[in-house]
Amino acid sequence: CSRHLLGLINDVLDIAKIEAGKLSLEITAVDASAVFDEVYTLTHVQAAQKGIRLTFEPPQGDEFRVRGDFGKVKQILINLVGNSLKFTPKGTITVRALPHPNLGHCMFEVEDTGIGIPADRQKVIFEKFTQADGSTTRKYGGTGLGLAITRSLVELMGGIIGVQSDGPGQGACMYFSLPIWNDEEEE
Ligand code: ADP
Repeated sequence: CSRHLLGLINDVLDIAKIEAGKLSLEITAVDASAVFDEVYTLTHVQAAQKGIRLTFEPPQGDEFRVRGDFGKVKQILINLVGNSLKFTPKGTITVRALPHPNLGHCMFEVEDTGIGIPADRQKVIFEKFTQADGSTTRKYGGTGLGLAITRSLVELMGGIIGVQSDGPGQGACMYFSLPIWNDEEEE
């Protein structure tokens, strides 16, 4: 109960801070694999308990870095993987980083085989206190703040966020982008 309450308080404080323009970011080169490792550590036990296969696919090859705040990138991923865990009764959750060097951005995806999201609700779930349908709170709990915070964090770091789902029962793929770190420009 106390953990749940603390989560709620933190969400409300995050929103208040963002809206007051007082959220400060510590922008550095963020190693995508390091974020994946930490998020895996925090989520794999819950996935195993639910019998869900959770896999992380970091970028291949050399260390790959995006431009952002390590703690905030981690918070975004924890939130998205947490939602997938909540809304996926069985199957898989896959987390990927897909660099697009020609665009200067990296796409991150959290794809699940869960309950999915109807087309007409895919935009509104990023708004504060909004859930995909009225029965969500009764069945799964939550406040509808997580994705609003997540969207603000992504946008503050210069990215975009969205969702792809073929509808109820078809799973969901949440994606967001972050700029790729550019050594020459930054140093
Ligand atoms: P909360 O999880 O507290 O309800 P969020 O802002 O994190 O709030 O999510 C808003 C709504 O978006 C959820 O209530 C749910 O209806 C929908 N949603 C988010 N992620 C998923 C997902 N992976 N699969 C299905 N529905 C989702």
